Amino acid sequence: MEVQKNVLLAPHTTFKIGGPAAFFVSVSNEADLLEALSYAHEHNRQIFLLGGGCNVLISDQGLDALVIKMETKGISFQHKGDCVEVTAAAGESWDALVAATVERGLWGIENLSAIPGTVGAAPVQNIGAYGVELSDTLCFVDVLDRETLKMKRLSAGACELKYRESVFQKKEGKRFIIVRIGIMLREKYSPRLEYRDLKDYYNSKNPSCAEVRQAIIEIRSRKFPNLADVGTAGCFFKNPIIERDTFLRLARQFPEMPHYPAGEKIKIPIAFLLERFGWRGVLRGAVGTHRDHALVVVNYGGATCALIESFVCDIVRDIEERTGIVLEREVLMIS
Ligand SMILES: Cc1cc2nc3c(=O)[nH]c(=O)nc-3n(C[C@H](O)[C@H](O)[C@H](O)COP(=O)(O)OP(=O)(O)OC[C@H]3O[C@@H](n4cnc5c(N)ncnc54)[C@H](O)[C@@H]3O)c2cc1C
Repeated sequence: MEVQKNVLLAPHTTFKIGGPAAFFVSVSNEADLLEALSYAHEHNRQIFLLGGGCNVLISDQGLDALVIKMETKGISFQHKGDCVEVTAAAGESWDALVAATVERGLWGIENLSAIPGTVGAAPVQNIGAYGVELSDTLCFVDVLDRETLKMKRLSAGACELKYRESVFQKKEGKRFIIVRIGIMLREKYSPRLEYRDLKDYYNSKNPSCAEVRQAIIEIRSRKFPNLADVGTAGCFFKNPIIERDTFLRLARQFPEMPHYPAGEKIKIPIAFLLERFGWRGVLRGAVGTHRDHALVVVNYGGATCALIESFVCDIVRDIEERTGIVLEREVLMIS
């Protein structure tokens, strides 16, 4: 295990933003992880766990902490009745895991193709796309408890997964370092094509698992910018879940607004409203929203965390003034 000092974090994030970490270490096994924790303890520093850096906006001042980059690897498959339990290490690429399961014809996470980042971060915000969330297949999460330094298996229920939310974002869950996850996938034909983009793509055909993955990759490549060209952390805000009254008021103004039931409340795709209020394809210096997706905030080159902050605060203020909805961030601000 080699600890580096004063490492610029921007290249370790998809936003391409972030000052230096006081200390930085990559860990590829559990022994290294324990060693990294004791290093942080000795140097009296907080730790920050970094996966692919795809869902974070790191401060320009950087972090006076030990940044631990999770690079543990390993995927295994075990038959259980007519299902297969797949176990994957936290440092695996999420999309490599999806590819490996699709290659075996397993159903369950194909709709989550091409979501950037690591397996270990997937439960943190219960990643989701195209009508499917990690919570649909998650069985367990193995964690290292930072307080006891012991491994522990959390059931899916104990992870408290909700829409872009989990116990790992709460005070009581911050003590857990996700080391591996287990998901249960099906061999039986079970596509999930109810999402409009997918229905349109397939019409009446019965696609294979690999075809669904391919469709998702194509649809996403039209919606999201190429990470090689610009910086972004994907959708910046969560889709709001609003009261019926607020919805009815907005629906009078925008009768065509898509909406989905969420218990007693209603979930709306906030990109729809951002677009109606002129926030798609906005360019302000090096910062803006993507030309094809108003929810995707982009660093067009050289933007700072401060510039992104000021831009997104303007969006939040504008949407609150126009609709009364207070947008919640999906991207995590790290300072
Ligand atoms: C172009 C683009 C498209 C995206 N599309 C989607 C989408 O469709 N759906 C979706 O849900 N998300 C999407 N995202 C967001 C992002 O891909 C996910 O949040 C992903 O899970 C982040 O993974 P990461 O490894 O990069 O996590 P990071 O950004 O590195 O970390 C995110 C958080 O998880 C914590 N963390 C990381 N690893 C661990 C660990 N092992 N144990 C405990 N905590 C940990 C970090 O400390 C941090 O708080 C998109 C992002 C981009 C850039």
